[in-house]
Amino acid sequence: MPHIICFAKQVPDPETPASQFKVDEAAKKVIPAPGVQQVPSQFDTIAVEAALRIKDNHPDSTITVVSLGPDPFRDTIKHCLAMGVDEGVHINDPAVNDADHWATAEVLAAAVKKLGDYDLILTGRQSVDWDMGVVGSTVAEILGVPVVTIAKQIDYAGDKVTVERVLLDGFETVEAPTPCVVTVSNELGEPRYPQLRQIMQAAKKEVKPWTLADLGISAPQNRVNLEALYVPDTSVETEVIEGETAQEKAATLAKRLSDAKLI
Ligand SMILES: Cc1cc2nc3c(=O)[nH]c(=O)nc-3n(C[C@H](O)[C@H](O)[C@H](O)COP(=O)(O)OP(=O)(O)OC[C@H]3O[C@@H](n4cnc5c(N)ncnc54)[C@H](O)[C@@H]3O)c2cc1C
Repeated sequence: MPHIICFAKQVPDPETPASQFKVDEAAKKVIPAPGVQQVPSQFDTIAVEAALRIKDNHPDSTITVVSLGPDPFRDTIKHCLAMGVDEGVHINDPAVNDADHWATAEVLAAAVKKLGDYDLILTGRQSVDWDMGVVGSTVAEILGVPVVTIAKQIDYAGDKVTVERVLLDGFETVEAPTPCVVTVSNELGEPRYPQLRQIMQAAKKEVKPWTLADLGISAPQNRVNLEALYVPDTSVETEVIEGETAQEKAATLAKRLSDAKLI
């Protein structure tokens, strides 16, 4: 009976206007914009879709979604359960509120070990907030299993998966033995949208609330040193070069560029 584990995190709605995005440069933290909705990271719902497609072909599969984050992350787990995932694990522990990608991967890998046997771990190719694109590969490294990144199609056949990967200039097909990690890209297609009946059914599905103590680990050390966090200055100053003739304007422009040491 195949066991597929999906990782899913919650992110600020990526449709939020850039003007509302603010950071506290001193604290090196993102300031949550008031009224901005928190949503499941899009690539993660696509990874769940990939798991559900495998389950469509292997109905005896069990899919578990694991999410590491504070209380609101439960909504993302509920969304995945409503899509058709069987059970959820919510790791919620203030000791890892500021986790970097390594600490995140250590905690997720510990959760996988606690869950026991598994065939496949599916993650998004990258989260849509911090965009590091490394957690899936790091978990594979910690667990000592193969990883295939940026998948557009996954064919599961018990002891192996055949994965079509997205390259810069085309696609390639690779095989990996199970258990393994596959990170999933948007080329896989649209994630299914939960219907009302499924949302109601999801309310009855189990979400295990785990802390680091339940995993038998203490807070892993961050390995990334965040030097600075800031919103890049994209403001543009415009100067209209005045002059009676095109030659005069060109001469003035050339002088301006020369003074600015651009030519
Ligand atoms: C020093 C430091 C402090 C930070 N502090 C904060 C902070 O206070 N608050 C904050 O929100 N972020 C913080 N971050 C960002 C946080 O570390 C990143 O979310 C983390 O590094 C993972 O990177 P990513 O989200 O880009 O994941 P990626 O590697 O892009 O994610 C790939 C996939 O891994 C899975 N995944 C990633 N994270 C999770 C998760 N938490 N649960 C389940 N699945 C997951 C998903 O399937 C995702 O699609 C901090 C980063 C650093 C370096």
